[in-house]
Amino acid sequence: MTEYLFLFTIGPVQSFIVQARKTQDLYAGSFLISRLCGFAAEKLVEGYGGKIIFPSDIFAESLPNRFIGKIEADESSLQAIGKEIEKSVRDEFRDIAFKSLKKYDKDIFKMQIDTFLDIHWVFQPLSDYQKDYVEIEQILGSIKNIRTFVQISETGRKCSLCGERNVLFYRKRESEKWIKDNRPSNKLLPKLLDGKSEIFEYNDINLNKIIAPGEGLCAICFTKRNLSENDFSVKFNDSFPSTSNIALYHAISQLPEDFKNPNKFDAQGILALKDGKHLNETEFEYIEDTCKVYEQLKDKKIKISDYYALVMFDGDHMGKWLSGEYIKDKSRLEDFHKELSRRLTNFGKWSKEYICGKDDNIEKGHAVYAGGDDFMGFVCLDYLMEVMQKLRDEFDVQVNEPMHKKFAIGEKLTISAGIIIIHYKDPLSEALKWARKMEHEAKENGGRDAFAIAVMKHSGEIRKTIWKWNYESGGCSRNSSEVLKDLSNVLHNDKTGFSNTFIKNLESEFGSMKVVEDGMMKAELKRLLGRSSKITGDRKNKEVKNWSNKLKELYADSQTGYMESNFFSALDIVDFIARETR
Ligand SMILES: [Zn+2]
Repeated sequence: MTEYLFLFTIGPVQSFIVQARKTQDLYAGSFLISRLCGFAAEKLVEGYGGKIIFPSDIFAESLPNRFIGKIEADESSLQAIGKEIEKSVRDEFRDIAFKSLKKYDKDIFKMQIDTFLDIHWVFQPLSDYQKDYVEIEQILGSIKNIRTFVQISETGRKCSLCGERNVLFYRKRESEKWIKDNRPSNKLLPKLLDGKSEIFEYNDINLNKIIAPGEGLCAICFTKRNLSENDFSVKFNDSFPSTSNIALYHAISQLPEDFKNPNKFDAQGILALKDGKHLNETEFEYIEDTCKVYEQLKDKKIKISDYYALVMFDGDHMGKWLSGEYIKDKSRLEDFHKELSRRLTNFGKWSKEYICGKDDNIEKGHAVYAGGDDFMGFVCLDYLMEVMQKLRDEFDVQVNEPMHKKFAIGEKLTISAGIIIIHYKDPLSEALKWARKMEHEAKENGGRDAFAIAVMKHSGEIRKTIWKWNYESGGCSRNSSEVLKDLSNVLHNDKTGFSNTFIKNLESEFGSMKVVEDGMMKAELKRLLGRSSKITGDRKNKEVKNWSNKLKELYADSQTGYMESNFFSALDIVDFIARETR
């Protein structure tokens, strides 16, 4: 018997998860991949006496799509073990899929199901953990470049969700409800796979959660929509809050208890009422109660925003960290992996609970996945600045600092975040694309340990800004997200703050200049802030001075690269957040 490292990965990840029209799709896709990976890890442990090195907890709600473990075995049995683990995952997925497809069991589903998962695994004899780990990653990388899985090419109408596979399930639109002949060959229906698709009626409201009128789904996406708690041993959320629910979190929290139950009103209905729409029964639920909640919000003059934020972050240089590049004593890499994974898993759990307000009862948003170095979540705009800063600070406290105490490492463990603020009516795919793009810009243009925020206004205007979390000079450290958060609190604040006119004026004066000299910026800030101030008495001068100093420093920090308009875009975005939340 020899000891081997075992590396296992499962996909598709990015494409599968982001193929989403609703927040539930996003969550279900990520959960499914996560659980299948956990299932493979369980197999290694239970079936073959293996040990998992990372992730540290294979039953966590969010897992990465890969794991690394150790196993003792004879060389001759390795192929069989790898194949057996792979097969058990494929069987598990087929079982889950067939539970939702059983009623409609046909060969064509099997083909879509069986060619879907992209699984790779490698064994590597273990003698020096660090060298063998780097080697096994390289082998996996080269295997993945040779795409071995079967590509099916189908002709016909493509699925509304993934756009890749053929439609096997279709629900009629309102304009098609009079059609009696449901055979897919009926020329009056959209052209589907002849004789092989299931057609649902327009008025079958039991299907509302699974397939919308006019939607056509493939077997994989139909499975995604049908996942339920019973399919898994780990808790699955079958009613992930919608983007309109999340946009309204803060507004609803200010109402009396009787009006707070999210299962008794339709969040999208509230936003439609705000737009002056009339609610009809095919589109909206709980119409009577929804109207009552809306009236309450109006009576209490509570601000209702149509916008929410999608936040993504990702550990910087994770590949280098895992390969041991930054630790001085390479022989400690295995311990380093275990400790890092344990800390990341705990941080992931904490961040998920923090966002949904487990401890303080303040629902700030909802995480889609929180694996530790990798996070995606929806956040209510009122809490965005606070959430960003808290996540970053806690990553430092829960992951970076303790890792430094335990291991001799040269670099800081950091994260970069991408945030999009977007209207609830804009397609979710757009939000996902932009959050990912901003995360990329925080890393590439912001030099990592940074965040990038974009606002996509419903008018079509887009503004974006990129900042390091911290700036240091002359022995002083400045936290840029904190300054922006504090600014959002004093803007549009009638008693103690400033109107936004100073932002507009400042940008029209200086927006086109490459560099504004320090003294000039400070003097102009002071003058304009004075004119925008709503504060009276002695405090006015103090606050004007305080904010002209802070903003002058922020301006100086913005001169470190990125984009010329970075400072003005940041002020505009903070102003937008303040306006939407007050
Ligand atoms: Zn699909």
